[in-house]
Amino acid sequence: MPNKLEIGTQEEGEDCDYVVCIRFTGLLALPGNLIGTCCKCGYMIQYRPHAPKTPAKICLECAVPEMDDSFGEHDLKVMITPKTAAEVAAYLQKKKAN
Ligand SMILES: [Zn+2]
Repeated sequence: MPNKLEIGTQEEGEDCDYVVCIRFTGLLALPGNLIGTCCKCGYMIQYRPHAPKTPAKICLECAVPEMDDSFGEHDLKVMITPKTAAEVAAYLQKKKAN
């Protein structure tokens, strides 16, 4: 099964559909993170200052079902940078541990 969650460069990230961000729950995951809102649910999200600016920002919780629906049907392209991927992995691990 092809996986379209791609990890690519900053430049490639600019023409993606979404940038996946983690939710902001009152604590920055990393110092220097910027705060925005999810394009779907409006929840506050945090992202790295180097995140691509062009694509809509979406929280992880919205992104997962969106990706499930869209893979195969549409040519949805979701991009996370290697840095974000590491952060998301750490976030999920922490979430699982709790
Ligand atoms: Zn959302």
